[in-house]
Amino acid sequence: MNIHEYQAKQLFLEYGIPVPDGKPTSASENAAEIAKLLGGESWVVKAQVHAGGRGKVGGVKLTKNSAETVSLSKAMLGTRLVTQQTDAAGLPVNQVLIEKTYPIERELYLSLLVDRTSERMVFIASAAGGMDIETVAHETPEQIQSVKINPITGLQGYQCRLVAYSLGLKGQQHKALEKIMQGMVGLMLEKDASQIEINPLIVTDKGELMALDAKINFDDNALALHPDIMAFKDPSQEDDRENIAQQFGLNYITLEGNIGCMVNGAGLAMATMDLVKLKGGKPANFLDVGGGTNVEKVCEAFKLILSDHNVKAVLVNIFGGIVKCDVIAQGILAAIQEVHVTIPVVVRLEGTNVEEGRVLLSNTGLNLYAADDLAHAAEQVVALAGESA
Ligand code: GDP
Ligand code: MN
Repeated sequence: MNIHEYQAKQLFLEYGIPVPDGKPTSASENAAEIAKLLGGESWVVKAQVHAGGRGKVGGVKLTKNSAETVSLSKAMLGTRLVTQQTDAAGLPVNQVLIEKTYPIERELYLSLLVDRTSERMVFIASAAGGMDIETVAHETPEQIQSVKINPITGLQGYQCRLVAYSLGLKGQQHKALEKIMQGMVGLMLEKDASQIEINPLIVTDKGELMALDAKINFDDNALALHPDIMAFKDPSQEDDRENIAQQFGLNYITLEGNIGCMVNGAGLAMATMDLVKLKGGKPANFLDVGGGTNVEKVCEAFKLILSDHNVKAVLVNIFGGIVKCDVIAQGILAAIQEVHVTIPVVVRLEGTNVEEGRVLLSNTGLNLYAADDLAHAAEQVVALAGESA
């Protein structure tokens, strides 16, 4: 799960990581008052969306006039921000963060993530902050310093000094960086974050370090342990279909193709998508309806798939292990009728009572094709999607 910058900065404060003074608002008319309360001589208005790259597309605006924060906020609130990291529709801006600005001497990069290969938390640091770190890693890998943390010994002082030297920090800044790095490790471990990114981490004209931006990802599987983090959830920043799927216990991810896939079991769903690709088609989604599926879930799954207007044909691939194939077939028929599916649906069933299931699905008068093997089913759905496109 992602959270907003202002929420991440609240967590940073709890863990002793310095951030600019600021306050979020959803009402532009409050902006000037907030700016005055913050004090200082210049302010920044930042669109709060679950994506980076805001600076390049007008989602971060500076002003020396506190009254102007109102018009800047007004221009952002209620719009959708499209950045390099969003899709073409962008994300809705429902809140802006008003912050006091600080003269920037240097912009650095610092993140903490999980390196699955070495099974360690790893710090990534670079003096080339404020930029796209993937580009830095690609073009000038020598500008990136990484430090792996041994889970037994934890973060060591020498590791912080190594990072501090590589960032060109001096004197008191070493201690300040160590405190920030320790805060990041504490936050990651205690709140089950999977990634914490500060880009940029700035050095102010007074030589102080401060997190000017903040991005945190959390491990969805640990959220049940952290009601405080769960409270940060903002469904407006997430895919509508994925939100609905969650309510019905369906595992759904939107993709860009035109073949809707409905499968029980994540592994089978992956294999099905691979096969569709192999046969020259493009899946419109990943959808795992779960092991013990029922008519209601199959109906909801059809509704989800059909709400994507790119979908030209559907492939249902269900293995009847816990649920019998004839029960599934009845569910599919009920769902197709209830949801008024008109595009072609190819169904491949396998498992207990498969014969009874196939009989139910044949000669229905519906746009329904019962396939007996998976490779054939995939070929058929690719051909049908091509015809109806
Ligand atoms: P992102 O583009 O979504 O990653 O948003 P950031 O919060 O990283 O802001 C983008 C850029 O705007 C930063 O790299 C800074 O150069 C600039 N910026 C953001 N906040 C301030 C600020 O308080 N003062 C100044 N001078 N520049 C800022
Ligand atoms: Mn940034």
